[in-house]
This record gives sequence, structure tokens and C-alpha cells, in this order.
Amino acid sequence: MPGLDDLYREIILDHYRSPRNRGELPPPASHAVGHNPLCGDEIEVYLDVQDGVVTDIKVGGQGCSISQSSASMMSQSVKGKPVAEVRALVHKFKSMMSIEEMDEADPAAEVKLGDLEALQGVVKFPVRIKCAVLAWNTLTEALAQADA
Ligand code: ZN
Repeated sequence: MPGLDDLYREIILDHYRSPRNRGELPPPASHAVGHNPLCGDEIEVYLDVQDGVVTDIKVGGQGCSISQSSASMMSQSVKGKPVAEVRALVHKFKSMMSIEEMDEADPAAEVKLGDLEALQGVVKFPVRIKCAVLAWNTLTEALAQADA
């Protein structure tokens, strides 16, 4: 993908080739499936939430490098975190992708993105933003299930 910084491209390809937390979790883990018909991406998220903490997450699916690497990075960055922090991270990520607004006073503005910053260059390719955000929307769905 031309236009992405070399270091960032390396991080994205590394997650695409060696996806983290790949697999499934047995019930009662919550399970959500997301599709991006524009690109043919599919993401499955399995989530264990105990006492308000994401104790385990597994990711499945197939699709382009942006969708799959975003899912891998997402899984790595939410595992072991309290649900409130995970929601703040989702908000921060979506604001990086120019999908949600965030002002400096927002507590989520303090959240560190780490490797996820590798995906910020995708904003320059509006058609790929849906690829990058798919895993996060699927995560949000799985979180809602865990709440229910
Ligand atoms: Zn895609």
C-alpha cells in the first residue's frame, strides 16, 4: 500500500502475517461477526468478560491486510483491560480514523494507541477506513453482548 510510512507498513504486515490471539473461545464467551462487503473482509471476535475486565479475546476471519492486522492489534491492546478502558480505546481509535469526534477535554484523549498508530495513515484512503474499523465495530458488538 503506497503512501504508508515504511515502519508503519512493517508493523501492519507483521500483524497480518503473524496474527495475535487467533482462534475461538467456547461459550459462554460472547461472539460477534462483522462484515465489510466493500472489501470482502470478515472478522469474528470472541470475548470473555469477568468482573468488568476483558480476561480473554480471540479473533477469527479473513480479508485484506488492513482489516486483519487491525483485528490483531486490537486483540493485543484490549486483552486484560477493564471494559471502560476498552471503550475509551475504541473511541480514541475511531477518532484517529476520523469517524468520531473527540475534543481535548475527553478523558479518552489520554489513551495511548501504541502500535495502533501504524494504522493512522489509512485515513488518507477513505475506502480502507471501513477495513481498519471493522474489528472495532465487531468488538463493540461483542462487548454489548457481554453486558446483556
Ligand atoms: Zn479490507
